[in-house]
Amino acid sequence: MASEELSQLITETKKQLEHLRALGVEGIQIATATAPAVVVQPPRVEPPKAPVASEPTTSLFGDIAPAPAKLTKSTETFEQIHTEIGDCTRCPLHLERTHVVHTEGNRKARLMFVGEAPGADEDVQARPFVGRAGQLLTKIIEAIGLKREEVLIGNVNRCRPPGNRAPTTEEATTCKPYLLREIAVVQPEVIVVLGNTAMKNLLDTREGITRLRGNFQDYKGIKVMPTFHPAYLLRDPSKKRETWEDLKKVRDYLDSHRSDPC
Ligand code: SF4
Repeated sequence: MASEELSQLITETKKQLEHLRALGVEGIQIATATAPAVVVQPPRVEPPKAPVASEPTTSLFGDIAPAPAKLTKSTETFEQIHTEIGDCTRCPLHLERTHVVHTEGNRKARLMFVGEAPGADEDVQARPFVGRAGQLLTKIIEAIGLKREEVLIGNVNRCRPPGNRAPTTEEATTCKPYLLREIAVVQPEVIVVLGNTAMKNLLDTREGITRLRGNFQDYKGIKVMPTFHPAYLLRDPSKKRETWEDLKKVRDYLDSHRSDPC
């Protein structure tokens, strides 16, 4: 091969190699005698990178939780709500009830008590908390210096569950809106929620009564004090002391927030 041809071949080869390098080729294998072809390594393909999560942006003064929703005052009346409930068949608890048991008491009450559902006595008399547990509740109310007629008393469910079982989540979810509408009418300053089931249903929490009792919770700006159900106190009187401590906090709150100077 003439030197001029060799020089041209080298120049062409250099150009080809630079072209391959520009395409990402990182090397070539020199062909052997038995395999004279030049094997070109394919360009290495990088796996796609996982999207990088953007750094959390930290505001100057940190995150501030949105203000909790406040309850809007309702102009409905209890009579309108109770008429709408009517001879309710919206959940299975209607099947064995005698009466629908509505919320009763002072419709301008500062304090409300909420239980889970009527029992046998309540089912017969169509009034909440009138059995033995109700009599104990009356004593609890009087112990903090109020009369039963001064407070509001109701349940999440208005029909007696068979065998006094706890209402199911579906049953409570079906009936609860009526209670919430009554709460929006009255807007009590404090709600004492009685027992685990009522507390979970009113506050939409998975926490148990033992953990939350004695500490004010919030329902749309209303103070909520969870404590034991009077029926539980009848079974375990040793819990009366803790209940009394919880109710003293309620009494102190109401006393310190009294707007009427009299
Ligand atoms: S418990 Fe409430 S929703 Fe169920 S049938 Fe009675 S009133 Fe209706």
